[in-house]
Amino acid sequence: MASGSGTEVDTERFRTLLLEERERVRASIERFHEQNSGSLEDETEEETYDNHLADSATATLNREIDYTLEENAEHVLHAIDEALQRIEAGKYGLCGRCGNPIAPERLEAIPYANRCIDCKRLEERG
Ligand SMILES: [Zn+2]
Repeated sequence: MASGSGTEVDTERFRTLLLEERERVRASIERFHEQNSGSLEDETEEETYDNHLADSATATLNREIDYTLEENAEHVLHAIDEALQRIEAGKYGLCGRCGNPIAPERLEAIPYANRCIDCKRLEERG
């Protein structure tokens, strides 16, 4: 390994991956906004009390799912930004909870991961 950097992770490669992933996530957030803009008002205007309650319940449910997806996407976006900051700080690839290195295969799968698999499991359980 090259000396001096203090980290064994190829941060330049992960920086590229993270920037690509950030563009993807941001594009999908924009799609959510495009799909949702106006649709809420359309549905509300069409709402008549002759319609089944089930219809508006379904519309509400769909909207909640969209918001959940959007929240997830924004959560990922935030995690990506933090990962990029960790690269700048020279702390990329270290668990934010216990400080141990995150397994390389885990970073390959989730470049913005900030928990080692052990801590992740603990958090999901608790
Ligand atoms: Zn950990």
